[in-house]
Parts: sequence; structure tokens; C-alpha cells
Amino acid sequence: MCPEKTDVIVIGGGLVGLSSAMHLQAMRPRLAIMLIEKDDQLALQQSGHNSGVIHAGIYYEPGSLKAQFCVEGHRALVEFCIQHGIPVVKCGKVIVANTDEQIARLEQLHKRGTDNGVPDLRIIDQRELRELEPHVTGTRALYAPHSAIVDYKKIAATYARIFQTAGGTIKLGTEFLCGQQVRGRSRMETTAGAIEARLIINCAGLHSDVVANRSGTKPGLRIIPFRGEYFELRRESRHLVNGLVYPVPNPNLPFLEVHLTPTVDGSVAAGPNAVLAGKREGYRWRDFAFGDMALTLSYGGFWWLVGRHWKPGVAEINRSLRKSVFVKSVQRLVPEITANDLVPADSGVRAQAVDGRGRLIDDFRIEESPGAIHVLNAPSPAATSSLMIGKFIANKADLRLHGTGR
Ligand SMILES: Cc1cc2nc3c(=O)[nH]c(=O)nc-3n(C[C@H](O)[C@H](O)[C@H](O)COP(=O)(O)OP(=O)(O)OC[C@H]3O[C@@H](n4cnc5c(N)ncnc54)[C@H](O)[C@@H]3O)c2cc1C
Repeated sequence: MCPEKTDVIVIGGGLVGLSSAMHLQAMRPRLAIMLIEKDDQLALQQSGHNSGVIHAGIYYEPGSLKAQFCVEGHRALVEFCIQHGIPVVKCGKVIVANTDEQIARLEQLHKRGTDNGVPDLRIIDQRELRELEPHVTGTRALYAPHSAIVDYKKIAATYARIFQTAGGTIKLGTEFLCGQQVRGRSRMETTAGAIEARLIINCAGLHSDVVANRSGTKPGLRIIPFRGEYFELRRESRHLVNGLVYPVPNPNLPFLEVHLTPTVDGSVAAGPNAVLAGKREGYRWRDFAFGDMALTLSYGGFWWLVGRHWKPGVAEINRSLRKSVFVKSVQRLVPEITANDLVPADSGVRAQAVDGRGRLIDDFRIEESPGAIHVLNAPSPAATSSLMIGKFIANKADLRLHGTGR
């Protein structure tokens, strides 16, 4: 049977794939762009299982793609939401410090955020912290007044609508299986048949390394899935938190700290724990896929990672299995919260790219190969940055297809 033909195929219907498709279609209305998604709905994975924060851009290495895309992405996303009637709650964020060492790190974060261009960032004292967050304990805090919360599923649905209205095609329940270059075109097999395209854009999130491999590229990294487990505050306890409350992060493992996150539906999430997931999309302890686990365990970089970070790894498992340990982490921020205030909530799985020496890849990583662009690492704050990442990829794609780019 003849393969279906299109100009560009985008693999993955999360925020990054949808934004890339939307931007490219807007730039080149005559281009035939098809987005394929293996699930029966868009944004069911990381884009639909995240904390819903529009980050300000404080933590990221100045000059990195994260720093650049997050600060600009924050502004662009808030504007986009206003334009499309998507509710955004500007609840602000405090990063709280209690020890001299934490205060010193807070000052470094203040400088970094300011260097990154985060507006109105400032250090506040205990009195001002009490006014903002009466139940939070801290002697100093870094206050980011523009940090906000949103429902990213609504944003994904809006990207999809704009893309389709401009002429783009979305095929749900269509999984990319493998691809190869045939006479300058990419020919790929999917669960819905063969498709031929001039360019593949791989935005497969938790599977981006597998998709790169199966289309003939050695990505030089592997995605290790870490489940982020959350509790939420009971309705009667939600008043204990007004905005986003974070501890000073561990500079080596910044995603390991338990924080408190209000959501636009009024709930307040507490978490996450981060534990190795038994499956790329393993949202529960019992979710296990032999193939996914074999890919993790057969990777040298994973064992380097274990060797380097086994202590915090064991502590995370302990916290995952024992609620009392989790409660203690939350009490470092809000001492009044007890085990009775917390009920289990949905978890998310983070695609953590790890290199062959077990180093966590921090910055966004977007690489090109013959006939393809691969988004190999798009962890947090990729949701906040999704408009900027999509624009960046659309520019790269346009350059590849037309020798231009805007
Ligand atoms: C617990 C958690 C909390 C987070 N909190 C925040 C936050 O508050 N703010 C923020 O900015 N960021 C946050 N992030 C990060 C953010 O959610 C992600 O970085 C972002 O959603 C990544 O989008 P994506 O499109 O790359 O990946 P995904 O949303 O995972 O999308 C990839 C898509 O590709 C599809 N796919 C995979 N393989 C194939 C295949 N072979 N064929 C077809 N389709 C395929 C998948 O089904 C999926 O729909 C969080 C992440 C997690 C896990």
C-alpha cells in the first residue's frame, strides 16, 4: 500500500509538539503538517500531569535555553491565556530559608533570577513573609510576585484548536513505530499505516530517546522515568497556604524538594517524592513494563547515576513508602500540617534525560539529524516555556524546509 504523504510529521501531542505544530502552521499555512499522538487524547502524559505552575525563571543557569525560554515564555504564556480566555491565577511564590546556609543560597538565587531578567524579584524578611503566608515558617524568603498557576490541559487544547483551524491535521491513537530515510524523505511505520514526510519533529517526551533511536539517530542519552508522587491538602486545610511555597533547592538535585502548590481548581498539592518508575508512563507503584525497565537497567549511565546519588534515592523511596516521613518534609514549610491534613493525589512521571556518565541533563536539548529534529530533553519548565520552544523548533523546521526562518 502507498504511504500517506505529508510535508511534516510531528510525533507527540503534548505541549511541546502542539506548540511546534501550531507555530509552524502559522508561519507556513500551505505546508501539510500532521501531528500523531499514540494516546486517544492529547496531553495525557507530562503535559496533563504537572503542577500547573507558570514559573518565573529563577533557578536556571544564565544564558541557558531554560533561562531564556522560561522568562520570555512566562510573559508570552500569560498574554496567550488572556487572549484566549484561559484563567491564570497570579498567586506569587516564596522560596523560604531558615538557616544561614539557606539564606546564602537564597541570595545567590536572587542574583541568578535577577540576571535572568525575572521582574520584581526580592528578598523579604520574616514579617513580610508572615503577611503573605501566615502559616509558613522562614526567617527570609525570596518572593516572586508574578509566579502563577494555570490549567495546562486547557492550553494544550487551545494550541490544538489553533493548529487545526489553520489547516493542521491531528491523528490520535497513532503510534510511531520506526522510520528511515528513503531518497531524502522520511518514511515511517505507525500503528495506523506508513507515512512519508520531508521532516520529522520528535516531541515524544518520555519516549523521545526511543523515537530518536528508531528513526536512526543515536541520542547519546537515555530517558529515565521518575514518578513524582503527591498528596493534597484536605479542603478544611487549604487556608494554610496562599501561594506557591518552596524550600531552597538542593543545587545538585533541584527537583527533589517537597513544595506546596495551589491549583486553579482550588486544591493544594504537596509533593513530589521522586522515585524510579517501573514504566515510562508508570503513575503507580504497580505499573511495570519489562521493556522500559530493561532499557533503564541496561544503561551504564543509570548505574553511574545510582552510584552518585544512591543516598537521596533511598531517602526518596523511604519518603514514598512512609507517610510520616513525607509529613515531616511538609512541616519544614508549614509546621501546622499533620498527616490528617494530607490525602493521596495524582502523580506525574518526569522524563529525566541522563547521559552515559550518569549526569542529569539540565538544559533543554534539541538536536537535528538528517530528516529530523528531536526534542530530547524538555523537563520543567517546559510547560511554561512551551510557546518559546515551539517557536524555536518551528524556526529550525522552516530553515530546514525553506532555507529561511523567522
Ligand atoms: C510531576 C511534574 C510536574 C511538572 N510541573 C511543571 C510546572 O508546574 N510547570 C512547568 O512549566 N513544567 C512542569 N513540568 C514539566 C512539563 O509538564 C513538561 O516538561 C512538558 O509537559 C513536556 O511536554 P512534552 O510535550 O515534551 O511531553 P509530553 O507532555 O509527555 O508529551 C509527549 C507526547 O508524546 C506522545 N508519544 C510518545 N511516544 C509516542 C510515539 N511513539 N508515537 C506517538 N506519540 C508518542 C505521548 O503519548 C505524549 O502525549 C512538570 C512535569 C512533571 C512530570
